[in-house]
Amino acid sequence: MKRVVVIGAGYAGLAAADRLRSEGAEVTVLEARDRVGGRVWSVPFAGGVIERGAEFILPGYEVMEGLAERFGIPVAVKGTPYGRRVPVGDEAVPEGDLEAAFERIGAGVDPGAASAADAIDALGLEPGLSALIRTRVGISNGHPADDLEVSVLDEGASTFGDFDNFTLEGGNQRLADAIAGDLGDSVRLASPVRRVRWTENGVMIATADSEARADAAVVAAPASVLDRIDFDPPLEGPTAEALAGVAYGHNAKLFVPMRSPASPSAIMSIAGHFWSYTQTGAGGEPAPFLVGYTGTMPAIEALGASDGDPGRWITELAELRDDLDLETAPEAALLSTWHDDPWVRGSYSARSISSPLRDDDLVRPIGPLHFCGEHTAGEWHGLMEGALRSGIRAADQVLGAG
Ligand code: FAD
Repeated sequence: MKRVVVIGAGYAGLAAADRLRSEGAEVTVLEARDRVGGRVWSVPFAGGVIERGAEFILPGYEVMEGLAERFGIPVAVKGTPYGRRVPVGDEAVPEGDLEAAFERIGAGVDPGAASAADAIDALGLEPGLSALIRTRVGISNGHPADDLEVSVLDEGASTFGDFDNFTLEGGNQRLADAIAGDLGDSVRLASPVRRVRWTENGVMIATADSEARADAAVVAAPASVLDRIDFDPPLEGPTAEALAGVAYGHNAKLFVPMRSPASPSAIMSIAGHFWSYTQTGAGGEPAPFLVGYTGTMPAIEALGASDGDPGRWITELAELRDDLDLETAPEAALLSTWHDDPWVRGSYSARSISSPLRDDDLVRPIGPLHFCGEHTAGEWHGLMEGALRSGIRAADQVLGAG
């Protein structure tokens, strides 16, 4: 029987462990945090459930929906017009112009443009519309549009227009909890891996108080925190270089309770560099909170969110959403940041020009070490679906490795 240690119990590591175990391997999962799920983190708030990290199930999430079905977790419609975030007031654009812009982008942008920002500029849109699309792309990728590849305009997280989006009823973390529950006591929490000694024939994995020998390891921790693990011998070659070059974007979320719930909406602030949305919650009723979502580090700093203080952002949100009855006391709000999370130090991988994602190299094993995580998921990078797919791919690599 093959023995495998999985490092990290986010969606990627859990999907890998689930596949390995179902194929007869003996699996141990070591997780640094005191919970599973990683960047999927659902918590109670204002009588509902909020997602501090990953939220939207987008079109094509076949693996996630399949796993949810297997564990009996219903998928619920959110109703948020995710692909149609409109600005209001001075920034408003005519509905027809917005439609025309979506059509222009859908028909294809100039693949030879130097950056996503240049490709948007080359569409020759009216300046307000151009600013809207640029802001949208920067927020969704957590990275400035002038350092993003043109291809991001075709990616799921940047999709424009109308499409349904979903969440797992009771929170996306339910899936992580369900997979971990199935794995039982082979999942060890509060066990950060500190050292990985490896040869071509096997690995020895050490935490502060334990050592585990295995035939192979699945490294499912974010690329941004691999420097916290002492690999012996050090990782070298194209995979190691690709991992070191992964750039993560930066995003933050702010949750503000509403005194009276409102139907789904999506309103963008171009000047504030954030969007705000409402949605349906349990039973299809309007959820009792508003969400603010920003991206890029300068925008997080400008909103005061880098200091952990929600005050400035609440004020801007309340001005933008004077259509809503918000509870604006800072102590009632919840700010969720990821740049300061020691086990990821960012939000999700971005296809930046300055540090491109080297998809082919990222999935190549180094000896008995196999790598997964959303950053290795190619066209699905940055997403829950990508994390799950990457875990299954890494497990299949281990199983096929003889
Ligand atoms: P992670 O979830 O980061 O899991 C890695 C795990 O490894 C973590 O649990 C970590 O604690 C652990 N770890 C790290 N170092 C060690 C170590 N040394 N030893 C042991 N364990 C370690 N995706 C969507 O599909 N839709 C969305 O709407 C969406 N919105 C998002 C919004 C935000 C603000 C963020 C942050 C993310 C969002 N995502 C979204 C992206 C999604 O969260 C990720 O793509 C996915 O959850 C990544 O899973 P993962 O398993 O690759 O990584």
